[in-house]
Amino acid sequence: MQATNGFMKALKCRECGREYPLTATHVCEFDFGPLEVVYDYATIKKSLTREAIQRREQTMWRYRELLPVAKEPTVGFQVGYTPLVRADRLAERLGVRELWIKNDTVNYPTLSFKDRVVSVALSRARELGFTTVACASTGNLANSVAANAAAAGLRAYVFIPADLEQGKIVNSLIYGAQVIGIKGHYDEVNRLCAEIAGKYGWAFVNVNMRPYYAEGSKSMGFEIAEQLGWKLPDHTVIPMASGSLLTKIHKSYQEFIKLGLVSSADYKVHGAQATGCNPISSAQKAGLDFFKPVKPNTIAKSLAIGTPADGFYALKVMRETGGAAEDVTDAEIRDGIKLLAETEGIFAETAGGVTAAVAKKLIASGKIPAKDSVVLCITGNGLKTLDAVVGHTGVPREIRPSLREFEALLTVDDIAPVNA
Ligand SMILES: *Cc1c(COP(=O)(O)O)cnc(C)c1O
Ligand SMILES: [Zn+2]
Repeated sequence: MQATNGFMKALKCRECGREYPLTATHVCEFDFGPLEVVYDYATIKKSLTREAIQRREQTMWRYRELLPVAKEPTVGFQVGYTPLVRADRLAERLGVRELWIKNDTVNYPTLSFKDRVVSVALSRARELGFTTVACASTGNLANSVAANAAAAGLRAYVFIPADLEQGKIVNSLIYGAQVIGIKGHYDEVNRLCAEIAGKYGWAFVNVNMRPYYAEGSKSMGFEIAEQLGWKLPDHTVIPMASGSLLTKIHKSYQEFIKLGLVSSADYKVHGAQATGCNPISSAQKAGLDFFKPVKPNTIAKSLAIGTPADGFYALKVMRETGGAAEDVTDAEIRDGIKLLAETEGIFAETAGGVTAAVAKKLIASGKIPAKDSVVLCITGNGLKTLDAVVGHTGVPREIRPSLREFEALLTVDDIAPVNA
């Protein structure tokens, strides 16, 4: 096994550094520390140059040496390379010089960044011989596992809190996955899945496959660096559920520096949460190294994890890079969704509202200085969380099909010139 894969070397405990073979396992037997994939960077450096990357297809797999599959990926080879959008109108509204949106609302095929982690987890699961895949999810992961498993001919079980948004539930059922709604919140779903994973021989993408799964998030950071012209932004604002995406974007920047693909830079990584589920941001603001678990109550259901698996490491990354965390109320989340939509034409889900609203706060407080460059990681599509904004968008003005009625409702604003 080890001989065939070339680039990944082993799984390694983040606490004690013990190494493990590259199987479906995720915790250290000695201290229960999380396992992480380690790579042979000296070998990778020989083949992974800017020129080599640029010659490859525009998908997340153009960085395949840094993704944990042994052979060619077999699931999700069209995923990633989403647009990095220069957001001048939003920049002006927020009062910052240079602002970009990494737009994973249009990631293929299920319109969230989770397609990145799932394509890696399912490709690796197949390499390890699994035919049934599963996950514990706050919604988007269930959608992505269901869709990608269907396309790969794998059997899928997805476990979700029973009270998720309609859009997230339908988007799992439609692919024919076995959808199990748990009457409880995500942390209870996750605990149950840990028991099931121990008993059945399934590949749980975010339990026993977690070391591989989590690496898929790095592709978002690789793309940001490449799309910025092989440099890192001064600031990256990232939504946090388990905290995994934030830690992996940091890892992606570190790897690009290590491989000489970007030059070393003073970048800051900032974390965004909802006030109704803010275990990581409240610990960061209080200057603590550890979070206290909370019971989630927020419209940002995709981020509603009260006991975040990578919370401790997310706090560490923010501390090391000099980043900050902030959280926002449900009303601020809706305003954030509207702000993104009205200034940039991007309709994000609640997590995107969280990220936009947190960026606004960090810029207003000077934690992101006006002279700097910022990337916002917008991770999911608003069409899947319509429930959160229905009743807050206004209503169409209705008339009969008559020119007279149309002209009767025109106001001064309707006929004023547009400053485009
Ligand atoms: C899962 C998810 C995240 C972040 O997840 P982590 O567990 O912190 O990696 C962010 N945004 C959306 C829309 C998600 O579905
Ligand atoms: Zn250990």
